[in-house]
Amino acid sequence: MCLNNNDTTPNPSHFEDSEETVAAPAHRDIAWNDYKDLIKGMRFFDPHIHMVSRTTDDYQAMHQAGIVALIEPAFWVGQPRTGLSSFKDYYSSLVGWERFRSSQFGIKHYCTMGLNSREANNEPLAEQVMEILPLYIYKEGVVGVGEIGFDDQTPAEEKYYRLLLELAKSAKLPVQIHTPHRDKKKGTERSMAIALEHGIDPSWVIVDHNNEETVKSVLDKGFWAAFTIYPFTKMGNERMVKVVEQYGPERIMVNSAADWGISDPLAIPKTAALMKMRGIPDETIRMVTYQNAINAFGKSGQIDVTDFESDYAIDHTEKFHGNSILRGGQQPSPAKDSLVIN
Ligand SMILES: [Zn+2]
Repeated sequence: MCLNNNDTTPNPSHFEDSEETVAAPAHRDIAWNDYKDLIKGMRFFDPHIHMVSRTTDDYQAMHQAGIVALIEPAFWVGQPRTGLSSFKDYYSSLVGWERFRSSQFGIKHYCTMGLNSREANNEPLAEQVMEILPLYIYKEGVVGVGEIGFDDQTPAEEKYYRLLLELAKSAKLPVQIHTPHRDKKKGTERSMAIALEHGIDPSWVIVDHNNEETVKSVLDKGFWAAFTIYPFTKMGNERMVKVVEQYGPERIMVNSAADWGISDPLAIPKTAALMKMRGIPDETIRMVTYQNAINAFGKSGQIDVTDFESDYAIDHTEKFHGNSILRGGQQPSPAKDSLVIN
């Protein structure tokens, strides 16, 4: 197929792979702005997003797109932490300042607490982190132990993963598993086998970063299957639509896992709009972009939907330990699309 049929002297570099270059843009040309009306009035819950790395613009865009609540899993910050204090400050921000900041943009903030797999490999520090974690997992808004599991699948990672599973068990909290990017299939199977070995009910475990290769086994074993919509790696949302067409909505949920890398905090509303375009029923969309996350993490007893299902007025004069999100005398402008900044 060649759409460029008036051109008698095609650029050789384009000509060589004309099939590829013509076919590829067709679905990528869909502009979010043209399609966001499709999901007007829908509510979304992002069960995996790292807001400490995101901007106020992101919060505003997420709120406008219908995201009413989110879960921020404790994770690695892009470089290794050098001491216990960094972990303490990070955990405190997840239940403190970030939770407040989110509320100031009309989004209910929850988090999961854990020691991420990468930093489990620094055993002297990991030991200290395990000692302080019980101080944080019982705080308000903590809906699970996460994100934990394997990165390089080392013995140290396994050791702390097992300890964290026991912690989740004793605290009666759901578990949010990060599956590795390398050797994913093996890492996913191993993560599930170990959770079962520790006597954890799979309906309390959310296995994250699934793909077409892992989903069947995760669902068959009774676990929740979460999918991260990530540009370039993991899953694109067209593939996600196909997964939902094939498996239906039961125990499947979508997240953005947006962090400090190239990622998209609007991944859920965009995927919902794409599902709508492709004829997926509204109730299915609602399950995978909202309700299933609430059902899974709600087992913590920490999620009260009336907190985000009823519209509430945002009070920007509120403070957290004396600090607000406003600079001196500032009022946040809701007119994000205006050229004039005032
Ligand atoms: Zn993450």
